[in-house]
Amino acid sequence: MSEPALVENFHRETVRERTFAQPIVLWDETLRDGEQTPGVHFSPEEKLRIAELLSDVGIPLLNAGIPVVSEEEARAVRLLAEAGLRAKVLAAARTVPGDVEAVIRSGATHIAIFVAASNVHLRYKLKMSQEEVLNASLAAVGQAKAAGLHVAFVTEDTVRAPLDFVERLYRAVQEAGADRLVISDTVGIMTPLTFRWFLREFRRRVRPKDWSVHCHNDFGLAVANTLTALEEGVNSPHVCVNGLGERAGNTSLEELVMALESLYGVPTGIQTNRLFELSRLVEEVSGVPLAANKALVGYNSFSHEAGIHTHGILANTLTYEPLQPESLGRSRQMILGKHTGKAAVVEKLKERHATATDPLLAELLKRIKERSEQRGKVEVDKFLLTYRSLYEHPGISDAEFWQMVRGLGIATEGT
Ligand code: MN
Repeated sequence: MSEPALVENFHRETVRERTFAQPIVLWDETLRDGEQTPGVHFSPEEKLRIAELLSDVGIPLLNAGIPVVSEEEARAVRLLAEAGLRAKVLAAARTVPGDVEAVIRSGATHIAIFVAASNVHLRYKLKMSQEEVLNASLAAVGQAKAAGLHVAFVTEDTVRAPLDFVERLYRAVQEAGADRLVISDTVGIMTPLTFRWFLREFRRRVRPKDWSVHCHNDFGLAVANTLTALEEGVNSPHVCVNGLGERAGNTSLEELVMALESLYGVPTGIQTNRLFELSRLVEEVSGVPLAANKALVGYNSFSHEAGIHTHGILANTLTYEPLQPESLGRSRQMILGKHTGKAAVVEKLKERHATATDPLLAELLKRIKERSEQRGKVEVDKFLLTYRSLYEHPGISDAEFWQMVRGLGIATEGT
């Protein structure tokens, strides 16, 4: 019998049939879409801390923000642009001259010019016709190119837009000099199957030289859809640390990177053994706690309690772990509890060079199980209540809002 492997040969062969773009230019959105997570705000200094680590681990391109949002935001983009990071710094702009001008002034070398493309966005949000969107886009791309910027052209809600319009718009901006074309699944409604169809149609009609996808996780499919895009030759996927972002978030940086490295065997240029450190930093600075069962960086991802599982892990970690925790810069945890088996206890005793007879082992096991079954849930209940009260009302409270309104002398009815 040959040595066991994580993936069998059929798997590697299947992947090899695909042509992956190289290099893959990971485009980080943690500081822009990630910051748009409800209740999240990064100061310029916090953005710099995250950007420095992103750049150190090997992220080649990062969106610093939208300078026209506020003076603080403009300061943040400038701070990052002037920090001498290895990563290229990008800033975003609507198809409005003032927005593009703000990016030019920020010192960022890359710009993402965005406008909506679908009928629902054009009619109800922008109140613009397709012609107006096209003309504004061409003007903005021209303005940014004239200033020497690397231009990415983004439409929101691309996948729900009429394909003929998508074709006309993207071909026009590409001819006008846009360097990279970005397709967005703004409301996260693609599946690997439908996205594959869309991307093939886009490639056939537009012939992009350099293209990106921006996926949302409303149905938990952001990483799967982004992998599909890479299988179709997309070279610059958008990612966010811990899958932060609007609503259910964006494609998780760590999940995408590890899937590419471990399951596809495609190099990403990322120091994966620092991904846990990056995840922790973003958890702290964003204040968005990771779900315990979050893939790869969640607390449980490398913890084992059940007897059958710990027994297998102790014999060979490949039995129940798809990758080694060290590859992400973390370690494995053996949990002693209700489901613990003999092997884990024997292993634990070894820490202090102890051995026990079978009857003593059985008694020790019985006591561990009893202790964990008796353990109350007071602490975890307290934590959950605090967590819920924080997350059910993030941002400015109602009381604070109405106090501001009264302070400005705005007349209201009721109390
Ligand atoms: Mn988004």
